[in-house]
Amino acid sequence: MSSDNISSFMKNASSNVANLNRELHNAKTDVLVDYICSDNTGVIIVTNKVAQQSDLSIINHYVKNSNDINALQVKDSRLPKSKSYLKITGIPFYSYANSQEKLSLSDVKTILKQNHIFNNISLTSKPRIIKVLPKSDMATVWIDVWDVQSGQNAKLLINRCFNVGNYIAMIRGANMNPGVPQCKNCWKWGHSTFSCQIQGAKCVKCNGPHKSEHYREFGWCCKANAKINPPRLETKKGEPCPHSFKCSNCKGDHQANSNDCPFWRHRFNREWHIKKYAEIRENRSQSIRSDVNGVNKL
Ligand SMILES: [Zn+2]
Ligand SMILES: [Zn+2]
Ligand SMILES: [Zn+2]
Ligand SMILES: [Zn+2]
Repeated sequence: MSSDNISSFMKNASSNVANLNRELHNAKTDVLVDYICSDNTGVIIVTNKVAQQSDLSIINHYVKNSNDINALQVKDSRLPKSKSYLKITGIPFYSYANSQEKLSLSDVKTILKQNHIFNNISLTSKPRIIKVLPKSDMATVWIDVWDVQSGQNAKLLINRCFNVGNYIAMIRGANMNPGVPQCKNCWKWGHSTFSCQIQGAKCVKCNGPHKSEHYREFGWCCKANAKINPPRLETKKGEPCPHSFKCSNCKGDHQANSNDCPFWRHRFNREWHIKKYAEIRENRSQSIRSDVNGVNKL
């Protein structure tokens, strides 16, 4: 769906829910829409139970005939795909030819491409490569694949073997996401967006108490301020905010959700995150202690 379509459909989200439920009710189905939300690819219509094809047709028809919607830019609705999590063991971590060369992402992609068992599989994210143990010469490769709700793709792959050079690698099932989640509401790591405890939201850019998409209206940095030296000019309407802020997690020069952030780079390393947050807590309590003692901080 185009972004114009998404915003005009979301503007009337609550009346769309009511209208859709009326149509579904008239069709005598017991599927009902709970709520509608969106991401950057389209709108997500959340129902109380799994929709059948006939329900999807009603939803399709409704969305494409809604006011302000350009039906040509709307794809047919589909049930959400699920993800399956797999790990591959038995791949050497160092290259056979050169023991200094580590297994890279492109090596893994080539390996997956060369083996027919992965032919109809598409990955949901980049594979992750971890050395089995610090002193080991073998790797574990984690792959997340798109699947149907019953996990059929994963079932076909689990316990199958294939060659990597003269090694035999094996595919096993894995636990769902072994990584650390980042909250998309307050941008802290270690809890998911749905379990965020803060009231309101934090901006990913300036860490101010507003939603990230409202930073131009609610953030202070683009507003004129004559009282400071040098005075700050207003950023022209329609121009992106030229200001940069420190990351609220690591204080680096990037946004809190950036791929440059060490928190992001270590997102599959729970121990690193636990250690880092302990460090941050310790620093904070030290600085409070020194404030109380009247010690000047450097
Ligand atoms: Zn949060
Ligand atoms: Zn902001
Ligand atoms: Zn700004
Ligand atoms: Zn950072």
